[in-house]
Amino acid sequence: MTAPNLKTVLTFDETTTAFRSVAHNLSAKKAEAKADLLRSTGAQVRVVDQPTRHEGQRLKTCELCKNAAESFSDHNPEGAAPEERSEDEPTAESGQ
Ligand SMILES: [Zn+2]
Repeated sequence: MTAPNLKTVLTFDETTTAFRSVAHNLSAKKAEAKADLLRSTGAQVRVVDQPTRHEGQRLKTCELCKNAAESFSDHNPEGAAPEERSEDEPTAESGQ
């Protein structure tokens, strides 16, 4: 088997403020179509490369998707500039 060029599609879930996978094992074309569809609903979408096929995994329990989503959730989603800071956010001004 040649290395598949597969994609995982992630969306930003406002309720959990984290990315989650909505599709995996998609071809680049399908992933883009899916992403476009989601973007048209105003969702923040990420299409990520899969190094390997997510074999025999259901999307909901797919660890590989989960990992991909988590690595994205560490970053600020593009377009969501961190301007509206909540005041209860602790500031680290104690030096070191
Ligand atoms: Zn997966």
